[in-house]
Amino acid sequence: MEEELRYKLKYTYGEDFGTGYFKYGPISLGEAPRIIQSRGLILRDLPESVKMLIPPEVVKRGIVVGDDVSRYLSSTRDMMRNLRYPLHDGIIKKEDEDSWRVVKELTRFGLSSFYEQAVNSGDFRGFLVVMSLSALSPDYMRERFIDIHMEINQEYQGKMIRALTAIDQPFAVAISEKAVTCMVVEAGHGNIQVVPISYGPIRDGIVALNRGGAETNAITREILKDAGYSDLAKDEYVVEMVKREAGLVPKDLGTAIRSAREDPKRFSIKIKVNPLVTVELSESAWTRFLIGEVLFDPTHDEFKSYVQQGRFSIEDVTMGDMVFYGEMNMADAIISSVRKTPVEVQDKIVSNIILSGGAFNWRAPPALSDVAVNSVDKVRIMIGDKVPDLLNRLNIRMVKDPQYSVWKGAIVYGYALPLSVEWNDKAKEGWIIPR
Ligand code: ADP
Ligand code: MG
Repeated sequence: MEEELRYKLKYTYGEDFGTGYFKYGPISLGEAPRIIQSRGLILRDLPESVKMLIPPEVVKRGIVVGDDVSRYLSSTRDMMRNLRYPLHDGIIKKEDEDSWRVVKELTRFGLSSFYEQAVNSGDFRGFLVVMSLSALSPDYMRERFIDIHMEINQEYQGKMIRALTAIDQPFAVAISEKAVTCMVVEAGHGNIQVVPISYGPIRDGIVALNRGGAETNAITREILKDAGYSDLAKDEYVVEMVKREAGLVPKDLGTAIRSAREDPKRFSIKIKVNPLVTVELSESAWTRFLIGEVLFDPTHDEFKSYVQQGRFSIEDVTMGDMVFYGEMNMADAIISSVRKTPVEVQDKIVSNIILSGGAFNWRAPPALSDVAVNSVDKVRIMIGDKVPDLLNRLNIRMVKDPQYSVWKGAIVYGYALPLSVEWNDKAKEGWIIPR
């Protein structure tokens, strides 16, 4: 046992397949995983002139992920059509081979970048890999991810992976927070998972929203256009940066907008993208509140003009037997999720609501604290408005590193799960040992 824990302390390896970002790496990284965008560029129809510049083994593999993506993209603009974001909606369709290729390359890229070092340390017999997928992913996705890992292990003559297991993202968060009974709200780039947990996810209570960081980007893009920055609005990097700097979560949208319209100076902001590019929101500073609000409640009139002009839309989508709601607000999502859990645990769940995921990562500048709040206060206010009686039981907090808590939980889980526990297909639990 001691031997096992010693091994685990070196070679437990976590993977969080997020809709926007893939977080990965071994336990030895400590608090923060490596992170790259969940995307890949398929090297198809390459002009010979470009092919010459790419290492032959990369051309042969035919796909790149990580920093290489932007490098190759900028060399050939028309490569854009070969860029894939396989997890954007959280679900990969069975027959979507390009997406599966990207996911496999992300996995291979991650594991291989730690392989060399591991092999050289002498006692390495393969990583103990914990992969974390959305709580909404259908069984075939988990199975395909398992296959992908086994294929990669084969490529490395069976030396890469000693054991493999899987855990739902929200459950990983609960584990990293040492919460037994709780509600995890995971707000990622592509969607939001609202998941009640009591010694494991309570499946019937899961509510999914078809919104996330991507929608806050979409609103930011429209705001940039309206403020006269049409060219910059095309640049995803600029949009992302402006969103993080300028975005605000209003206590109450109407009040916040009124304050900002009355005193635009107080809310105006200058964002220096680089030494040559600056974005300024002055007269339109009130729109900063739209950026944050859309995550929590996209049904206000202020959003309707964008929708009517066809510049923005969020719709319900059905995948398998799961509905991802477009417009349901955050309070309704949480309350309806709690309602679907056994009455006897409801009290415990509302007294331990955990927010996680990068899309909750808003700042609330102290100078604007009369109208702008952080995500925890926002959710508390919204729920309190709907069900005032809940307020005195409500306990909401945010994890320390919202983008990393799934990966951290995956590591903690892998460390704690005894290697003697074999994978059980029914419980979807235990270690799969490659043979
Ligand atoms: P996923 O797991 O779905 O990939 P993450 O938890 O990694 O999502 O979060 C990514 C999302 O969080 C992106 O939409 C990103 O723009 C957003 N995000 C990260 N940091 C901030 C921030 N400081 N302010 C606003 N949004 C942020
Ligand atoms: Mg995530």
